[in-house]
Amino acid sequence: MMLKERLETIYAKINESALKGGHNPEGIKLVAVTKNVSTELIKEAFDLGITDLGENRLQEAMPKIAHLPESIKWHFIGYLQTNKVREVLNSFFLIHSLDRLNLANSLENRAQKLDINVPVLVQVNTSGEISKYGIAPEELEDFLIEIKSLSRIKVKGLMTMAPFTDNPEETRPFFRRLRLLKEQFKIPGVEMKYLSMGMSNDYHVAVEEGANIIRVGNALFGHRNKK
Ligand SMILES: *Cc1c(COP(=O)(O)O)cnc(C)c1O
Repeated sequence: MMLKERLETIYAKINESALKGGHNPEGIKLVAVTKNVSTELIKEAFDLGITDLGENRLQEAMPKIAHLPESIKWHFIGYLQTNKVREVLNSFFLIHSLDRLNLANSLENRAQKLDINVPVLVQVNTSGEISKYGIAPEELEDFLIEIKSLSRIKVKGLMTMAPFTDNPEETRPFFRRLRLLKEQFKIPGVEMKYLSMGMSNDYHVAVEEGANIIRVGNALFGHRNKK
């Protein structure tokens, strides 16, 4: 299959799943995850109308950002080290992976120096797996309240990663959990707009459960070499 056909398949599936879950398909943003994808292939995706790209490692992202059109919105979706904050703030549109207070403080300090605001999603560890980053669901409220006092950090929603499984249906409880957390916390000044959840294997389930950002790599670009 070609990129164009894969993209059409993904859009069709987003549409179908959104309607199934009672959501408006038009509000759902596809972030194409470009780790291990060549600049040429990314350019092809861009020419097909993809505007939002996700990378989880800064070193890999920087040359691509330099060589691809400036109009692309880059999403930082991986674990963010505090010593990478400066570069990430210069190049990325949205950080999906705010998962700890010291990172929030680093972002705040740097943003003050640059005199900018920083839109972020808070990563939540909905599965409780120790291998996963993210705030525990029961600590989310306190975390959001702490973050609120940082004037430059603008929380825009939540992000999660479901456990890996061959059966996508098993991911449903984790996506549902994130949606319920989003609905539960009505903190003044905290705009819970986005739910970033769902990857190649399970984005249809995530969309049914209310995802409005999905992060898809393999299903779009084909299977790449994994490290
Ligand atoms: C790699 C990655 C994805 C995309 O995974 P695929 O299975 O290729 O769709 C999504 N989110 C994060 C955080 C990732 O690291």
